[in-house]
Amino acid sequence: MIRERAYAKINLGLDVLRRRPDGYHEVKMIMQTVDIRDDLTFEKREEPGIGFYIEGADLPADGSNLVYRAAALLMEKRQIREGVSITLQKRIPIAAGMAGGSADAAAALRGLNALFEMGYSVEELKEIGLKLGADIPYCIQGGTMLSEGIGEILTPLPDPPACHLVIVKPGIDVSTAFVYGHLEADRLPFHPDVDGMAAALAAGDLKGVTDRMGNVLETVTVKEYPAIERLKRMMCDLGAENALMSGSGPTVFGICKERGTAEKIAAAIKIEEPADAVFVTEFVRGSVD
Ligand code: ATP
Repeated sequence: MIRERAYAKINLGLDVLRRRPDGYHEVKMIMQTVDIRDDLTFEKREEPGIGFYIEGADLPADGSNLVYRAAALLMEKRQIREGVSITLQKRIPIAAGMAGGSADAAAALRGLNALFEMGYSVEELKEIGLKLGADIPYCIQGGTMLSEGIGEILTPLPDPPACHLVIVKPGIDVSTAFVYGHLEADRLPFHPDVDGMAAALAAGDLKGVTDRMGNVLETVTVKEYPAIERLKRMMCDLGAENALMSGSGPTVFGICKERGTAEKIAAAIKIEEPADAVFVTEFVRGSVD
């Protein structure tokens, strides 16, 4: 049996450079793995095809699930005649801007590659993953990465300095398609200093990182969903170094120097805000594969 961990990510910085004529957005983001994860298992079975079981979430375990699609794609490519039984223990909030589905799909690619000894390299798995989703190549390896193009140009960055995180998924649902659909990519009021953040990471300068946190997708979501700004303000007022929305939202994270500060913020939010999930956690250092 093969076990894989599928870690969630946040974006320390997220910039959109332009909307391409084909509708894709060219991004420049700093991705960071956080210690919130789904667990997957992969086991051969006699019956051919894919058996897929989900625990911990009300998601359809069918061909619409990214795990199933990733498994089907690899098995088709390699003409695998044996069957596989896959379980997914879901913990990452769904449709949260934390790439939970992409992380699961990446774990499925790694897991099946190992189970059936397919021999794909990490680079090959990233190429295959890109066909299923722009964040999947990043999720194959995880860690701290600069992500450019539509998400397929990845450059490893040094791990961030030690710190603690409070991560909150507010009790609202935000669709990624809605956010990108309403983004005015050629009229953005600001661009986060992603290069400056990469330099601050190289220098081990936490303040240099937190001072440069920015996400242009907030230009869409903050207007529509006041909870996002409210959570950011609460986190900063209660002592976080800075706070930001992750990905297309609505999850908000705060970076704190002390674990006690992150715990204090989490406790206050649990009382004052209707949140689906509140975590106190840390970054995962190095790659996940
Ligand atoms: P991103 O940060 O990449 O935008 P997200 O965190 O916003 O991702 P996901 O949780 O990855 O969003 O899921 C978005 C949608 O994808 C869900 O609404 C769900 O219907 C579908 N989906 C398919 N497979 C999965 C999976 N394994 N886990 C979660 N959602 C999945």
